[in-house]
Amino acid sequence: MHVKQFLIGAALFGISLSASNCTSSWANSLKSKLSSKTSIQCTGDNQRWSDYAAPVPGAIITIGEENDVAKVIAAASKANIPFLIQSGGNGWADTFTLDSNGIIIDMSNLKTITFNKNKTQVTFQAGATNKDVIDAAWDNNARVSASTCNCVSVLGATLGGGLSRTQGVYGLNIDNLLSLNVVDANGTKKTVTAKSNPELWWALTGAGANFGVVTSATYKSTPIPQANNTAWTGLLIFDESKLEDVITAIDELTLEPEMQMDIYFTANPATGLPAVLVLPFYLGSEEVGREKFASILDIGPLADGTEVIPYNTWNSAGDAFCTQGGRKPSYTTALKTMDPTAWRNVWDEYTAFFDQNSEANLTTILTECYSTAKTAKSVTGTGSSYPFRDIKCYAITIPWYTSPSLDSEALQFGQNIRSYLADTAGTSSPSSYINFAHGDEPLSQIYGSSLSKLQKLKLKYDPQKRLNQWFPLS
Ligand SMILES: Cc1cc2nc3c(=O)[nH]c(=O)nc-3n(C[C@H](O)[C@H](O)[C@H](O)COP(=O)(O)OP(=O)(O)OC[C@H]3O[C@@H](n4cnc5c(N)ncnc54)[C@H](O)[C@@H]3O)c2cc1C
Repeated sequence: MHVKQFLIGAALFGISLSASNCTSSWANSLKSKLSSKTSIQCTGDNQRWSDYAAPVPGAIITIGEENDVAKVIAAASKANIPFLIQSGGNGWADTFTLDSNGIIIDMSNLKTITFNKNKTQVTFQAGATNKDVIDAAWDNNARVSASTCNCVSVLGATLGGGLSRTQGVYGLNIDNLLSLNVVDANGTKKTVTAKSNPELWWALTGAGANFGVVTSATYKSTPIPQANNTAWTGLLIFDESKLEDVITAIDELTLEPEMQMDIYFTANPATGLPAVLVLPFYLGSEEVGREKFASILDIGPLADGTEVIPYNTWNSAGDAFCTQGGRKPSYTTALKTMDPTAWRNVWDEYTAFFDQNSEANLTTILTECYSTAKTAKSVTGTGSSYPFRDIKCYAITIPWYTSPSLDSEALQFGQNIRSYLADTAGTSSPSSYINFAHGDEPLSQIYGSSLSKLQKLKLKYDPQKRLNQWFPLS
């Protein structure tokens, strides 16, 4: 059905598409320009992290060679065919308008990763996930500050800012970028650095999806032998009666550069019942880690699974969150403060939703807290459009189920939690990190103080509004 709609849609745009299986004249003429490694799949079947509000394309073009990206975009733009870039397929926002008239440009096979000789820089392509880059860094006796879930593409996260466990030491992902190979909305290739085009660099580092398609990037790396590339981390499980104590301790804890932590409301892996889990992370020894997180450990967890583990396993605790499919309409709130009363309300709402909907028993409220020691200031000199450098914690409500009949209840649940937290967030106005946002927020909540400059630049760099699937600025 999707193929048929794609063909009809393309015909409406004046393109002559005559047969199925992408043997139309447009597809044939495009195919003849592409490498044999790039394929065109005439189906909308597309595996993503969340099926809720997912794009339903008429065709998927899976890129096999980086150079083909520009050719596909030039052809799509000329024919006025809408397109969406997909790297890791994890974006959960409901801002996609791509339907069977459009194409997904799938970057997931572009996975080349190379380090320079002294391991201070790494160049990777758009399909490289956190796991791909971390594994490559490990093999090269290096550390790259990538984000905290293995399945996410490094660039997908980075173009919105990019949060990572080690950002207190290395800065946000955008602070680690050295150069970007970009294809613009017309299909023209350019290499962008903070020096070569400060204005476009600023826009790409925080609102990247609206300003270009990044095919590969060069990023900072730190040489470090495997034996020293370790951290102390692991799950602490608390009885829910300790919730207020845990929240107060997090609120009062200043996260030093080597510290990061998450708190989860999720099913206890041992009992399947709702539980309060805390995941401290310390870039150093167990002894010092325990000292730094003493205020939380002293509350008395029911179980303590912390240990010193190697860099290439830091993300393993989050692998369950990478499971693809199912419906996960998620909501977020950026927090400078954590209020125990608000969090008790959140817990009550969470357990009620959990208890009333057995199919939603993977539902999770995940809050990630970061040191702002390094991120408070941009390091490139030109700045970046990412607006929330001083945020300590990011709460994400993830209702997780399969049946569309639960959608309206799940949306209400997520919105209730967002409003409990917004009132006590400690920010001057509600703020939502673009990569965690739902899509129903006003743009000022997503782009903060960068909004009006971004909107002006959008008119300059993408006047035809072709890059308009991800929190569109115009
Ligand atoms: C399990 C999980 C864990 C997460 N953990 C973190 C985390 O630790 N830190 C963090 O910062 N975020 C995290 N996120 C959020 C993540 O950053 C966003 O979902 C991000 O958009 C995912 O990028 P992707 O390429 O994997 O997904 P996609 O759906 O492929 O990309 C999302 C959007 O980004 C744009 N895009 C992707 N690649 C490119 C490109 N090469 N050029 C231009 N535009 C592009 C497209 O508009 C696309 O629609 C997590 C998400 C999930 C589901």
